[in-house]
Amino acid sequence: MTPLILIVEDEEPLAEMLRYNLDKSGFRTMVAVTGEEALQKVDMELPDLAVVDWMLPERSGIEVCRVLRARDDTRKLPIIMLTARGEEGDRVLGLEAGADDYVVKPYSPRELIARINALLRRSEVQSALPQKEYAGVVVDLDAHKVTRDGAPVRLSPTCFKLLTTLMERPGYVFSRDRLLGRVWGGDVFVEPRTVDVHIRRLRQALNARGGCDLIRTVRASGYAIDEQQDA
Ligand code: CA
Repeated sequence: MTPLILIVEDEEPLAEMLRYNLDKSGFRTMVAVTGEEALQKVDMELPDLAVVDWMLPERSGIEVCRVLRARDDTRKLPIIMLTARGEEGDRVLGLEAGADDYVVKPYSPRELIARINALLRRSEVQSALPQKEYAGVVVDLDAHKVTRDGAPVRLSPTCFKLLTTLMERPGYVFSRDRLLGRVWGGDVFVEPRTVDVHIRRLRQALNARGGCDLIRTVRASGYAIDEQQDA
């Protein structure tokens, strides 16, 4: 799949130039002009990498980095910090806040893209964590296979993505919108009801051999994978 790059930059001409260059290099992009907006966008669709400007109104780029690093689903998101500052102290501060790399403005688009590619390659190697496990459910991300208490569970590709998303944060309630963004992607128009349909299929598949229902429905909010739910 085409990597999705989140651009967080409050100066629109710079954001547009970066978007143009990244689009031309074959990436998908989404732009946020504030830290708040960046976090909202991440809720809708998880990017593969973020390019974050240091100087932002309200929340600084450093704060955005810290928030992303504190969240389970973005803990390993590769982040490149953009800044007009080039001093050693700033560089250290940026890296300490969780940025993986650091590019000083004005930068050449070619250099930035080379760094993006290098970071994406590195994160691909690292994210080869082959398994996720929760409450007896084991997801093999490489083989795309799921078992519950050792027995195979057959899932469609969509249900598989839905399950791996829920398993990123057991107990956490994902809204339908968030699931739509994460599983179907932000560009596609899909009715929220589609999420309910696939959750039903996922639930049936997981519970096919008995055992407690691991999918918790929270009326008007969304869904979680949760073994501690009240019946
Ligand atoms: Ca700025």
